[in-house]
Amino acid sequence: MSYVERVLQELKAKNPGEPEFYQAATEILGSLKPVIERHPEYEQAALLERFVEPERVVMFRVPWVDDGGHVHVNKGYRVQFNSAIGPYKGGLRFHPSVNLSIIKFLGLEQILKNSLTGLPIGGGKGGSDFDPKGKSDNEIMKFCQSFMTELFRHIGQDTDVPAGDIGVGGREIGFLFGQYKRLKNEHVGVLTGRGLSYGGSLVRKEATGYGLVYMAEEALKCRGDSLKGKTVVVSGSGNVAIYAVEKAQALGAKVVAMYDSNGYIYDKKGIDVAVVKQIKEVERGRIREYAERVKSAEYHEGCRGIWTIPCDIALPCATQNEIDEESAKKLVANGVKYVGEGANMPTTLEGIAVFQRAGVVFLPAKAANAGGVATSALEMAQSSGRMFWTFEEVDKKLKDIMVNIYHNMDDAAKAYGMAGDYVAGANIAGFLKVADAMMAQGIV
Ligand code: NDP
Repeated sequence: MSYVERVLQELKAKNPGEPEFYQAATEILGSLKPVIERHPEYEQAALLERFVEPERVVMFRVPWVDDGGHVHVNKGYRVQFNSAIGPYKGGLRFHPSVNLSIIKFLGLEQILKNSLTGLPIGGGKGGSDFDPKGKSDNEIMKFCQSFMTELFRHIGQDTDVPAGDIGVGGREIGFLFGQYKRLKNEHVGVLTGRGLSYGGSLVRKEATGYGLVYMAEEALKCRGDSLKGKTVVVSGSGNVAIYAVEKAQALGAKVVAMYDSNGYIYDKKGIDVAVVKQIKEVERGRIREYAERVKSAEYHEGCRGIWTIPCDIALPCATQNEIDEESAKKLVANGVKYVGEGANMPTTLEGIAVFQRAGVVFLPAKAANAGGVATSALEMAQSSGRMFWTFEEVDKKLKDIMVNIYHNMDDAAKAYGMAGDYVAGANIAGFLKVADAMMAQGIV
């Protein structure tokens, strides 16, 4: 049995009931086999065993009182996975599906994603099984304050710098930051995604969606093509999805569909992103309301149907495992040429295999959605330097980073004889830097 297979088998046995974590580890370690073969010293140093074991896992109780005076208790998590190349960095997710397996898969992915940005940030992730849907602003604040009342002792601007993710946007980051500052009496860059009036960076809100489209644009350009006139399907209608739609349309593509967890909209004329922003960002409503306001749009209950819409480019931007084997086959049959993952692990292992067999250009999440964390690192740099860059400056740095990541993963795939396999390219390019740092720092 190979070293990689042994580590995966041990991981499965030691972490029962963590299928998402095992899925992410299988994808990553599977494509690292050629690297491991070239570096026998990694096995002697138990490098992979250490790589898949978080440095620290914090789990805690989050009690809070709702507007009716009822007491609730949620689970809180922070997985500080790997600090070899910099302080832990990764978002907080508030969603009822959150559990240790989900946070560990996200944390493991985050290590390589952060490495790919070329910036000095380690990997971490956290969150809670709290459901923000239907809660008042006051209840959200109470929950965030309780969550931070435990989390504050584990994080810090040079230790661990959380950000947003599903269910955690500008409002939640504001409440979390306010409580951290109160507890520590320090106004520091301990969270990113902050508002512009208290240390945030321009472009952070747009960064993940814009970055995804910048990478897709580069992949098209390298094949003598462009986004102009392309039909695009984007899943989700949250932060990543909205800004992916905005940038794709600005560069000449037509985005025809989006969804939330209830159903999808199809607008053959092209989605009016201003209407989506009004519904989702201002009113916190449902995507169904788009079809009530825009005549050219239809609404369909359920999400899966979105992948039956013919398109040139699919950008899954909602959540893990949105595209399974069957949906991938539908997309391929309908002529999809590019898939860019805005969400984390939105395609199942079987789905990825379908795309790769069909020659679809597949841009994996850890590379394609790295624009968010990269801009968070730019926010950290601005905070510690007490400076503030313009929108154009940050946007330019973001675009350069995305183009660089694309070429780094392309080069890594070629160097290991797997040209065009960006799953392997991204894993290898991200891993080599982390492995080098871990080897240099001894058995820790
Ligand atoms: P948001 O909370 O802003 O939006 C999430 C969107 O996905 C909503 O439209 C939500 O619908 C939908 N969604 C969530 N769960 C499901 C589900 N089970 N089925 C169908 N739709 C679902 O989150 P973000 O946009 O920030 O994050 C989206 C993805 O991008 C996540 O995978 C996240 O990890 C990843 N990501 C985010 C980054 C960021 O900067 N924000 C950075 C890198 C990756 P509903 O409202 O109905 O729940």
